[in-house]
Amino acid sequence: MNLPLPVASWQNQLQTAFSSVKELCDYLHISSQHLPLLDDTANFPFKVTHDFAACMEKGNPNDPLFLQVLPVNQEHVETPGYVNDPVGDLEASSGPGIIQKYQGRVLLISTQACAIHCRYCFRRNFPYTDNRISSSQLDGLISELKRRTDIHEVILSGGDPLMLNDHKLQDIFSQIESINHIKRIRIHSRLPIVLPDRITPALLQLFAHSPKQIIMIVHANHANEISNKVKEACHLIKSTGAISYNQSVVLKGINDNVDALQQLSEVLFETGIQPYYLHTLDRAKGTAHFAVADEQAKHLVSQLTRRLPGYMVPRLVREIKDQPHKTPLI
Ligand code: SF4
Repeated sequence: MNLPLPVASWQNQLQTAFSSVKELCDYLHISSQHLPLLDDTANFPFKVTHDFAACMEKGNPNDPLFLQVLPVNQEHVETPGYVNDPVGDLEASSGPGIIQKYQGRVLLISTQACAIHCRYCFRRNFPYTDNRISSSQLDGLISELKRRTDIHEVILSGGDPLMLNDHKLQDIFSQIESINHIKRIRIHSRLPIVLPDRITPALLQLFAHSPKQIIMIVHANHANEISNKVKEACHLIKSTGAISYNQSVVLKGINDNVDALQQLSEVLFETGIQPYYLHTLDRAKGTAHFAVADEQAKHLVSQLTRRLPGYMVPRLVREIKDQPHKTPLI
């Protein structure tokens, strides 16, 4: 009798994630020999979960998920306007790991870790080591938040906040939950998409029992990322009463066509996730090869508007340093 294989914990899955291009190429039956690979990934290492890799098409070097994680030598090209901190995170920081750009909200860089390294990431050059929040700094921040009655929402970002274990998250949640004027806890995470087993019963309990409104902002760029496992995880999140939105980035060769954007919106909506923002690329150093011109992005969204009901069309925005909100492009 064949017994089902035991499911590895999400932590074990992280430990066995692909950490070399060759390993992933072998799995996908793609020859790495002719790929224009980056010779040195020390600053931003290669990392891909098996769940995300399982959504890639075998034998296809142009697969839209594969291209999101492939380190190519174009990352070395210096492009004017592409900088280490494209959205002004450091200027908006009032202390290690704390960013406040917008009224009523404060963002915590809760960890530097991610389950996957997206090559277009706007924080790929972020100085995480100088921005780690220690336990005592977190206590200080909570005291500060108690005084700041103008803050109504705490955003857990990173890295990916769901890389913290359930115990650590419980600790952060309980401290935030002790502050009456905080109404919402928002979590920016790619883990429901790239490591759906991270949605553990303990995490679901944390969401379900929180007295605050929980907002989950996931990040998917292509419909192929939404596997059945991802759908199940997202439905579980929804069952806790949390509200889920998706942010994506319009990326050259990956989702810069109206069919891809339409399929993404449709599958997100079926999964209980509201398409929210379609970001133009933040101009982080090493990412220029992903850029889609604003005019093309606007054209894509106006085509999408003809095809889909308004509630399924994400807002096309650019994040501009020092602006008090995201800037809509149409
Ligand atoms: S998961 Fe998010 S923070 Fe991490 S590398 Fe990808 S885009 Fe960047």
